[in-house]
Amino acid sequence: MIDSTQFEEEIKDFYSYYNKRCNDKIIDFWYSKLRSSNFLILRNTLESFKYINKFPDFQAVLDLYRQKYRVSKSAQPRDINAEPKCHHCRDTGLILHQETHYGQTGEYAARCTCARGEMRNKEMASILEVMPDYFKAERQF
Ligand SMILES: [Zn+2]
Repeated sequence: MIDSTQFEEEIKDFYSYYNKRCNDKIIDFWYSKLRSSNFLILRNTLESFKYINKFPDFQAVLDLYRQKYRVSKSAQPRDINAEPKCHHCRDTGLILHQETHYGQTGEYAARCTCARGEMRNKEMASILEVMPDYFKAERQF
């Protein structure tokens, strides 16, 4: 369970980033829904919204959090002999990549361009919107 003080700080920071007022009621609501979430994934989720510079509604945060949570779970290979159809996203539909904003480097998720990526929530940016040269750069390795 996330420590309530740490949680409150994070949500207050998030609201103040958008110059929005945050009160105890709001924090209680967020905490009641997300207190058993993974704090690092939650923080990463909030950071992603800062990157697209859009204040999200609660459901959007929850959706992205769940996607990121699923990716973190599916990152452990179930069958090491099974080759993924898409080696960019390993069939998760999401590409995790590093981005630096305001001097802070973090991990972000973007949609892959394959069929699995197409099935993902369109609210999320495609990898080509975030990093137009992603596939070009990857080919050099
Ligand atoms: Zn893919």
